[in-house]
Amino acid sequence: MKKDDPKSMETKCPIYKSWRELPLVPISRGMKGSIGETGDWRTYRPGIDEKECNRCGICYVYCPDGVIQFKEGSAPEIDYKYCKGCGICKVKCPKKAIEMIRERE
Ligand code: SF4
Ligand code: SF4
Repeated sequence: MKKDDPKSMETKCPIYKSWRELPLVPISRGMKGSIGETGDWRTYRPGIDEKECNRCGICYVYCPDGVIQFKEGSAPEIDYKYCKGCGICKVKCPKKAIEMIRERE
């Protein structure tokens, strides 16, 4: 540090002994988006062809929003309130069972 350099600001950082002491910050809720219903700004929605789907669960694993759910014996279900239409599930589906369908204006 040179003589004329400005002094760093003093900042007090809290010290936590465990992550359990961290203050609650409402950045996310389990399985759902934290900023409300995000499906309404989607331009394409994924549609699953239940006949082609082999229930492998790959789409469930890759969905960044955790909006794909499985019920025993049936094809995955997408929660369209929170699906943003990113299309990752379509890209990752090994059976090409997902199509992106244009939302209506
Ligand atoms: S990745 Fe495709 S084949 Fe696998 S469960 Fe999802 S939709 Fe079905
Ligand atoms: S389009 Fe994106 S957010 Fe919607 S179900 Fe597929 S991977 Fe998840």
